[in-house]
Amino acid sequence: MIFTKRLLDIIIPSYRRPEIIRNLLSDLQGIFLSKNFDDYRIIVVESETSEKDQYFNNIHIHRLEDRLSPGESRNVGMNLSNSIWIWFIDDDDSINSESIDTLLSSIKEYKNEDIDIISHSLDNQYENSNSGKNKLLTNISLFKEKQEVFNHVFTSRLLSKVEKFSDKLHEDIKFVVECLSKSNSIVVLNQKIYTKNFSKGAITSFLNEERIEGYINAIIDIFKLKNELIQKLETEILIQTVGTILYLIDGSPIEYKENLLISLKKCLPRYLFEKLPDNFNEKNTNFKYAVSLYKNKKNIKNFLEDLAYCFDTEISCKDLRNSLFLGPGEIIGCCKRFFYDGKIKGDIVLFNDSPDVTLDMIQNKKKEIEKRINSETYEDCVGCPYISRFPKTKVRKIDYISLENFTYCNMRCTYCSSKYYGGKEAIYNTSQIIDDLTQNDMLSEEVHVVWGGGEPTLKPKFKEMNEKLIVNKKVNVIRILSNSLRYSDSLNNLSKNEKIRLVTSIDAGTQEKFQQIRGKGQIRKVLENLSIYKNNFSSPENLTIKYIFTDENYMDTEIDNFISLLEEYGFNDNFIQISCNFKVEKPRDEIIISFYTTASKLLHKGFKYVYFDDLIRDRLYLNESLGNKIIETLRSKNLLHKNIFSHENKKNIVLWGNGYQSTWIKKSTNFGRTGNIIQTISEEYELKTLENLEYIICPAGIQSLPDIFKKIKKSLYFDKLVFGIFI
Ligand code: SF4
Ligand code: SF4
Repeated sequence: MIFTKRLLDIIIPSYRRPEIIRNLLSDLQGIFLSKNFDDYRIIVVESETSEKDQYFNNIHIHRLEDRLSPGESRNVGMNLSNSIWIWFIDDDDSINSESIDTLLSSIKEYKNEDIDIISHSLDNQYENSNSGKNKLLTNISLFKEKQEVFNHVFTSRLLSKVEKFSDKLHEDIKFVVECLSKSNSIVVLNQKIYTKNFSKGAITSFLNEERIEGYINAIIDIFKLKNELIQKLETEILIQTVGTILYLIDGSPIEYKENLLISLKKCLPRYLFEKLPDNFNEKNTNFKYAVSLYKNKKNIKNFLEDLAYCFDTEISCKDLRNSLFLGPGEIIGCCKRFFYDGKIKGDIVLFNDSPDVTLDMIQNKKKEIEKRINSETYEDCVGCPYISRFPKTKVRKIDYISLENFTYCNMRCTYCSSKYYGGKEAIYNTSQIIDDLTQNDMLSEEVHVVWGGGEPTLKPKFKEMNEKLIVNKKVNVIRILSNSLRYSDSLNNLSKNEKIRLVTSIDAGTQEKFQQIRGKGQIRKVLENLSIYKNNFSSPENLTIKYIFTDENYMDTEIDNFISLLEEYGFNDNFIQISCNFKVEKPRDEIIISFYTTASKLLHKGFKYVYFDDLIRDRLYLNESLGNKIIETLRSKNLLHKNIFSHENKKNIVLWGNGYQSTWIKKSTNFGRTGNIIQTISEEYELKTLENLEYIICPAGIQSLPDIFKKIKKSLYFDKLVFGIFI
């Protein structure tokens, strides 16, 4: 006689919830009837009941007097089953009657094949390949994917090769991981077929010692599987598990937290505790940061406070949260470039140019990226020095808008990208996006708009858009990055407005070098236009002249000529920004020395407002040997100006500006490390505590520098202001 197996058995553990189970059975029967699917049996294993077994239609309710754990009940169900496929589900969940078709077709299609698991209803998408399976196994082990057993339908052939469910909580994790690691092939249905419903009072709705033990036992069992992939991930799995427990402790009522920490200490074997890394910090994911806080904890009260901070915040970057970059032919997520593993990264693209892109789409995409940064699944941002910690908030107001939605330029600089040439407007609807920002109250109170490019003054709508921006009360700065080669009447008129800032790069001291680096135009034409604009600016700090150092223009003669030209055209009271080529990972020592000699020469000639920008900052770490080399060079040329501060100086300095620039001065310069930075402030009142001290104030900011300068100018402390250059 030939016994044929049923196609599918569904096993449901249940404990004292007859009403719930009745509803589920009726739902399931209805769904299968409507699909003309009959080759199944539902096996309910009901524990702690004195009633008898029941058989009706395709259902067997198996009843037991003892109270069994869900894992043990599933094992009982498995013993009663006789099918090709087995699906374990929970009694309080639900099945989607529309998408179940895909699952039913798959169990029919793959019944005689090498496929061991059909996975579904997952958070992430997976390929149907070995690498897809490994990715799923990795994500489940690392708590980056749903770990429950109901997201998979298994062959009984596979289940005969794996250990039965344990009687502990969170038994699914190890069971699913073992099934995946012992399976031949799997199929993933990237569809939501199963919905987990969260019942009030369910055992997994609060944390207790039993659950902590369940999590820890699950990973101890997983490590015993000797799966190569898992062995490689051991530390990460440990971090994610302990991180999850710490997250749940943080979310528990305050009165239970200390006891839960005691339970964690009891359940986590010493050898696993020792393996927890202690070197993660605020820039790492919440779980990593939490685990290192736990490893380094000295005092429970402080630890619980730090833990609350960790889980009330998340990692992201300022640009993803509060900026909008309307780029040439694309919408980008940031305007930062950095080097990681020898490669230039950053400038991440959110959308290619399309008329369909809306503000909503941009904001949603940014949120999705932030989510992926927090689960370490977004490769493009890995290694970014601009990642930091922010409070978890739903509302993200925009305070920075970059307008580069065109490709016009009348120069061809060596350090530029061809994406800025072509003479086209972006086809996404810039005006609509900006109007939506205003109408949806998404602009912050002080918005900084930057016109970059390309050459913005060549844009036909340059005047019209500025007229609109200038009257917007929320826009407080409009910074125009123009090459100033072609005189712009519109820019000249705008210069009268206090909101307008102009930045122009010169990068040469002679026409020959200008031609070589900027590709087109006359250096004197640029300077002439700038001196016309300068007359209109209400404050000299609203005009910045920049010098971008490259391999071609750092020589003394070029710099000397550049400074002579600045003097000739009378730019002594404007801001002078020293910068470098963003494509170079680390400038050579000669070029670094030239940054300092240029700054010194400018200071000696009476230019007071000289500073290094973020491109230099991000590439420059001054150790003692480099610092000494710079000092020796400056001294040998008689250029060591009093506003150049190194470890040789003993001055007390207050930094005005509390961002990346002040952090760089404090941590990456020899002066900063001497401890002579006595305070970092962002408002005048913070200086009150220093009344009896001798000190000077150095502004620390790049894009915010004119604003910081204006604040200091208006304060009682203007006489203490010095633009310091730090070694
Ligand atoms: S690369 Fe850095 S700055 Fe750019 S979006 Fe990613 S985290 Fe933000
Ligand atoms: S002026 Fe600006 S946009 Fe034009 S080529 Fe030079 S760097 Fe590129």
